[in-house]
Amino acid sequence: MSGTPFAQGRCQCGAVSFSVAAPPVTMGQCHCKDCQRASGTGHMSNARFRRLDVTISGETKTFAVKADSGNVNTRHFCPTCGSRLFGENSGRPGFMNVAVGAFDDHTWFDPQWVLYKNSQPLWDITAEDVPCYDGMPPPT
Ligand SMILES: [Zn+2]
Ligand SMILES: [Zn+2]
Repeated sequence: MSGTPFAQGRCQCGAVSFSVAAPPVTMGQCHCKDCQRASGTGHMSNARFRRLDVTISGETKTFAVKADSGNVNTRHFCPTCGSRLFGENSGRPGFMNVAVGAFDDHTWFDPQWVLYKNSQPLWDITAEDVPCYDGMPPPT
């Protein structure tokens, strides 16, 4: 890997930092209850990258749960400051979600989907002009 990364970011305390070499393959917002609990807000904004494009410096702790799909969803966070940083799903090997708010600059974020619209709080507004799903999109 060489040249200027597409974007970089870090956790709040700086113990974990990361860079991504190329733009996300997809990005969007998720209102599922797990994302609400993990983020402490009404949704999580995620960008998905090819795992090999993501370089991580520092150690994360992880918490894994079985998703509705039956796949295992592993969330990474900074053990010092608790910032939510990455997500991996056993159904999507080779890809990694990065929490968009952790990037130094995230003006590039442009959601392409909204998941778990049926769990969206009335007070938490996300995009309406993109495909919205009650739960996950149907498998393609
Ligand atoms: Zn930290
Ligand atoms: Zn979610």
